[in-house]
Amino acid sequence: MENDRVCKENGEYDDLELYAGESLPLEDLLWEKVSLLQSQNQDIAFFLADLGEIYSKLEDWRRLLPRVEPFFAVKCNSQPVVTRFLADAGVGFDCASKMEIEQILNLGVHPSRIVYANPFKQSSYLTYAARHNVDLMAFDDIHELIKINEYFPCARLILRMATRGEVKVLHKFNNKFGCPLKQCGMLLTQALDMKMNVVGVSFHIGGQPEQVDCFSTAIEDAHQVFKIGLALGFQMHILDIGGGFPGRDMGNISFAKTDSIPGTGSTSCEHIIRQYFPPSDGVRVIAEPGRYFVTTSFTLAVKVIAKKVVNEADISANKNDSLYNGGNMIDDDSLLHMYIINQGIYGIFANVVIDKAPISLQLLQEKENSQVSRPRRSKIFGPTCAGCDCLMSECRLPEVQVGQWFYFRNMGAYSFSLASGFNGIELPLVFPVCSKQNCPPKKQPLKSTQPINAGIDLQLCKHF
Ligand SMILES: *Cc1c(COP(=O)(O)O)cnc(C)c1O
Repeated sequence: MENDRVCKENGEYDDLELYAGESLPLEDLLWEKVSLLQSQNQDIAFFLADLGEIYSKLEDWRRLLPRVEPFFAVKCNSQPVVTRFLADAGVGFDCASKMEIEQILNLGVHPSRIVYANPFKQSSYLTYAARHNVDLMAFDDIHELIKINEYFPCARLILRMATRGEVKVLHKFNNKFGCPLKQCGMLLTQALDMKMNVVGVSFHIGGQPEQVDCFSTAIEDAHQVFKIGLALGFQMHILDIGGGFPGRDMGNISFAKTDSIPGTGSTSCEHIIRQYFPPSDGVRVIAEPGRYFVTTSFTLAVKVIAKKVVNEADISANKNDSLYNGGNMIDDDSLLHMYIINQGIYGIFANVVIDKAPISLQLLQEKENSQVSRPRRSKIFGPTCAGCDCLMSECRLPEVQVGQWFYFRNMGAYSFSLASGFNGIELPLVFPVCSKQNCPPKKQPLKSTQPINAGIDLQLCKHF
């Protein structure tokens, strides 16, 4: 594609389109892109990636959780435009693999701004991390300690503890991650015997919590584990409160309300941290938000590439039914309108199945032709040759024509990262835009001015 605004490989956003506030409605911008593609005889699905929205999330974060340094979970959306933007804004990164680490280091991010938060690391990845000084990493079992001791003995270790089961979350992590609370003391003793360098505690409450008071117990528990570590002589100084911060407001759940104390208007997540880890203790607090930063920033546009109208009753025709009824199709409610769009559950909508992301479809209406026909029984399918590639199995939509476009908001989290190229369907393009003023922010120095190990002598490793 000869389009210099398309930001696919290199993550540049110098040619970012700015639109201030609400002055240019989203639909106008979508139309502009549709026409641009049409002028090039293209009809690929595309995203508007609103960096202004990401920036306002960062501002909210810094206002409500000023003490907590965010390390963006790269797995949530590793699009170069996102990682580059967050790197420039001074955010750190949570990486889970060699490739994620490599992508972030290639942006010029200092290794001290990366936490290797996956507690299961293959040895070759550990060697890679060691070679590139990415030394802050999670563990939750003796077997990981043995491996780290062999491949990166000087790593600074964060003990990932399991959280309690009470907190209601959509995606539980306790089945796979975290040292059970009762075993943390034993694991720390083993680390001590091996002369490993444990510097902190982490947890992840799970994905998409369904209650606002989801962090308090975990922070309290982390404090207990901290105390054990300190008593054993470890220089514990990092608390990592993980991810799970909501990406959008849903019902009672919103970032601003997480652990809120009614009436104070402040998040008590910060308050609880202060209670157990007073700033005077010098504990550094970090977090690994993923969906928080990107969910609302990506709007997806897809094209209706094909259509089929069937009488559903006829699908299950009997052997003896006459095959010819005079050529008439009765236009009643038994007719099912099937629309095939150019992304499906094997593509960018994989997050609907795996992450259980709610979707809401909107028709990109032509302004001059805003007549809406009566709603019909409709089904929306993806473009692949799989029968189960069905995005919406039962909905009512006004009749739509081949060539029209739908759009879906809030598609930034776990969409690209879970999508496959099944059947050779291209993944969407990304057009970076900016809906807020002062965006992008002035570039900050990429090198960390405040290394994560501030004040701690790495030589202590093995000898503390
Ligand atoms: C996935 C993940 C995150 C991000 O989770 P969100 O729900 O997107 O905030 C953070 N930390 C770890 C270790 C993860 O695995």
